[in-house]
Amino acid sequence: MNDFDDLLEANRTFADSFELGGFDGKAHAGVALVTCMDSRIDPLAMLGLKHGDAKIFRNPGGRVTPQALEALVLGVHLLNVQRILVVPHTRCAMTTASEQELQERIGAATGQDATWQSFGVVDDQVARLRQDVRAVRSHPLIPDTVKVGGFVYDVDTGLMEQVD
Ligand SMILES: [Zn+2]
Repeated sequence: MNDFDDLLEANRTFADSFELGGFDGKAHAGVALVTCMDSRIDPLAMLGLKHGDAKIFRNPGGRVTPQALEALVLGVHLLNVQRILVVPHTRCAMTTASEQELQERIGAATGQDATWQSFGVVDDQVARLRQDVRAVRSHPLIPDTVKVGGFVYDVDTGLMEQVD
């Protein structure tokens, strides 16, 4: 028995009807999305997109980190990205707890000191989103022809609201 048997079994079922072999890795709808790792977010479905349409970068909070910028620069120049959406969401754990609270919770769960681990907590989600959008728009390797928008996804209604 393997800890991953159930998932490997499901993967074999998936592969049985797999028809995407040979597909390229471009963003066929020209879309890149930076969003949270939150399991309440279904990034393709919420934008009416399908497999192959978008490049998706996820992290806690949906923040534009240096790694997100790496992905976006690659997406724009090599993978057909023409529009970029930055999409944090309502009721995100990264906005409702403080850095110290998260460190205390992880510390309690592990029985170890977790104060050295940073989590990138966001104090003001909309202000942070505007900063993140600005970081993408002003990136020297992302041309002005690329459209960049900042949105908040409501995990209770499924609606996205543009804030920048
Ligand atoms: Zn989140």
